[in-house]
Amino acid sequence: MDGPAHTEGSERPAEGVLARAFRHTDLEGHDLPPSPTPSSPRNGRRYAMATELVYTEHGDQYHSSSVPIYQTATFKQTSSRPTDGAYDYTRSGNPTRSHLERHLSKITSSHRCLVVSSGMASMDVITRLLSPGDHVIAGDDLYGGSNRLLKYLSTHSGITVHHLDTTTPLTSFPPILTAHSQKVKLVLLESPTNPLIKICDIPLISTLVHTANPTSIVVVDNTMLSPYLCNPLLLGADIVYESATKYLSGHHDLMAGIIYTNSPPLASRLAFTINASGCALSPFDSFLLLRGIKTLSVRLDKQLLSSHAIAVFLEQTCGFRVRYPGLPSHPQHDLHSRLSPRGAGAVLSFETGDVSISEKIVENTRLWAISVSFGCVNSLISLPCAMSHASIDKKVREERGMPEDLIRLCVGIEDVNDLIDDLTTALVKAGAVKVTVDGICPLSKAEREKLQAEAEGKLSGPGNEQST
Ligand code: PLP
Repeated sequence: MDGPAHTEGSERPAEGVLARAFRHTDLEGHDLPPSPTPSSPRNGRRYAMATELVYTEHGDQYHSSSVPIYQTATFKQTSSRPTDGAYDYTRSGNPTRSHLERHLSKITSSHRCLVVSSGMASMDVITRLLSPGDHVIAGDDLYGGSNRLLKYLSTHSGITVHHLDTTTPLTSFPPILTAHSQKVKLVLLESPTNPLIKICDIPLISTLVHTANPTSIVVVDNTMLSPYLCNPLLLGADIVYESATKYLSGHHDLMAGIIYTNSPPLASRLAFTINASGCALSPFDSFLLLRGIKTLSVRLDKQLLSSHAIAVFLEQTCGFRVRYPGLPSHPQHDLHSRLSPRGAGAVLSFETGDVSISEKIVENTRLWAISVSFGCVNSLISLPCAMSHASIDKKVREERGMPEDLIRLCVGIEDVNDLIDDLTTALVKAGAVKVTVDGICPLSKAEREKLQAEAEGKLSGPGNEQST
């Protein structure tokens, strides 16, 4: 442990006190032995978030700087009887994973945080709180995979799912809450949604739901923001989960999911399911995730600045309709700033008005890799309707107002000028903008149509006269 941090008179307990207290079970009541588990003493967060992300404590016998990876499936017992609180089998508990869970529990100021093998595993564990006959209310612009799991539950498990527009809670929620208040067991929210970047008023929806039925569980998928930008537990949510594959890890080199709550009974039920189903995060991935979390603030601080610059460039210089809650033009800019004052995230989307132009833009970037997912140090570009959201029926996509030409950008940590230059090259090659002596300007509809017709050989443009 970090010696001087435990001197008498500091807010934290002296080392001897901690050692005695942790002898059998840890102070957070997770029923796990300590070494090297403790990431934070029970007095929780004390420093600014950027510091807490980096600062960990553990009781490794050799005082290793990074937490050891306990790459083992089993632990030897000291007697034939179960040892009080000791680790026995990694599916049920592992010191590397426990260290990560406690670190995240400190960061999220939650009673308990659990880590599992993917974001979808988090949602799977949470939805196992449901029983046949229960109703679920969910947003209408959910991540495609979440949509798929809900669809599965409604066809195979007797769950009724209502997809509502979460941007108009005062009109969309009351009819369902009134008709089914006692049956609505779970409400699933995302904010900002992806890829339409809709913001939902989590405090207002939580109040509406809990007033109609205090036992309903409000669940927020906080993947788009991470705990660095928003903590939905403080906004009224009962359970929060995230795909840690994204910002928390930051490097697209692991899959993980986290679940956090302030409700001890819910935490116990979730932990039971994780142990029973065997989806807890492996020791090695726990180590990697812990390492990724330490750089979350530096990565996101840079990603926020670059995202804002790119959003302004696309809207003001190129004239596209841009969806980014950091822009004053976003219809819910004020709401987002209130819920997540630290920033608007690093995912934005824009429309070009033409699917084929959008395809060309996506295919002509070099720094922006064509990839699903987000939250990585590298910048990514995608066409959601053809990629991450292709599993949603085309008709449903249309009903939910998802434009087929929508391009999603996930901003990384590269130099922002390089990113804008690369994007500009692709926009020009795709015929979405032109470069004049005055700079970059949007093409008029007529200019675009002419270009397109030339490309298809319908008109004689310079250099292709012979084709007419
Ligand atoms: N939630 C959101 C908002 C996502 O974008 C994703 C994945 O893209 C998930 C959940 C699922 O996470 P995972 O891919 O780690 O299972």
